[in-house]
Amino acid sequence: MMTTYNFSAGPGVLPEAVITQIKQEFEKNEHTHMSIVEISHRSQQFQTIVANAEQKLRQLMQIPDNYGVVFLQGGGSTQFEMLPLNFATKQQKIAFLDSGNFAAKAGEAAQQLGKSVTVLASTKPTHYQSLPALPQDFDATAYDYLHIVTNNTIEGATFHQNNLPKTTGRLVADMSSNILAEPYQVTDFDAIFAGGQKNLGPAGVTVAIIKKDWLAEQDLTGVGPMMRYQNHIDKQSMYNTSPVFAIYALDLVLDWVIAQGGVAAMHERNLAKANRLYDYLDQSGFYTAPVEKSARSLTNIVFTTGDLARDKLIAKQAETQGLFNLAGHRSVGGFRASLYNAQPMAAVDALITFLKKVEAEQA
Ligand SMILES: *Cc1c(COP(=O)(O)O)cnc(C)c1O
Repeated sequence: MMTTYNFSAGPGVLPEAVITQIKQEFEKNEHTHMSIVEISHRSQQFQTIVANAEQKLRQLMQIPDNYGVVFLQGGGSTQFEMLPLNFATKQQKIAFLDSGNFAAKAGEAAQQLGKSVTVLASTKPTHYQSLPALPQDFDATAYDYLHIVTNNTIEGATFHQNNLPKTTGRLVADMSSNILAEPYQVTDFDAIFAGGQKNLGPAGVTVAIIKKDWLAEQDLTGVGPMMRYQNHIDKQSMYNTSPVFAIYALDLVLDWVIAQGGVAAMHERNLAKANRLYDYLDQSGFYTAPVEKSARSLTNIVFTTGDLARDKLIAKQAETQGLFNLAGHRSVGGFRASLYNAQPMAAVDALITFLKKVEAEQA
């Protein structure tokens, strides 16, 4: 059988070892007499899984005790609404840096909830190929918080820890596509969220990391119970029926990350993978990687031949070589190779071999 690689941006590739373990454990557990998808979210077995997953995430990201960690449903998109509902309660004003589609979408969601949304800067006119800068005269006191997307999954620009906007106010980050892929200082943020399906596990679970004293300051009159972070924190992510399977799988992924050496080791590997691909693209006369170098994503590598119709054909051709899901997001076209934690270096090598062959044939 041909070795195949999945470059999908999400749901994305999971560690092979985790898939194997899920297969092995999927049948009836000899103690509970049930499989993982049949157990109660109130069972001791599941409570232990949730507690362990939380503890492992705290360890991996060095999350202090004054932050709550919860596993929610509804994806990253529901966080676009929960955050404004829980935190834009005083001035009802949110500042955004428009670094890509998912920043813009979060802004639209907040606006529809009746919050005032200010886009401080946008790189949309230049196709989001660089990062918007926080204006010099930004007055953090005029807003409840500043919302950023650390890694722009579609367009491929990243606020790495060393180029985060420096605000004196509250900072909220959407880390959906690079959580645990590179180090971030959790204490630089007041809230962090990430949909599970990019780098943490399967779809169906979303992680939220919330600074508790900030939450305690809020007047949540009119906010329904499911939308309140506090309810999920108080009930250890079991306020209602939890996404049992997704959290179980996420817990296994966290075990895997720890066994690999944690976030620092993942970062080192991700740098090596991404640099190998960018280096090839940069010296190529056929492909270009358009994102500004200092902002380049480690997890979503965007490139093009400059001819979108040709890109499409090449992405299709790649499938015959076992390289799947290389087409860029439908809104931008071109190519996108997602190199999440679980993507092996062998995938990058296979991709480069293929791209070189195409270049030799078509350039
Ligand atoms: C995928 C993604 C989302 C949306 O996640 P859903 O789970 O589909 O709602 C939001 N933000 C970023 C950065 C993403 O990559």
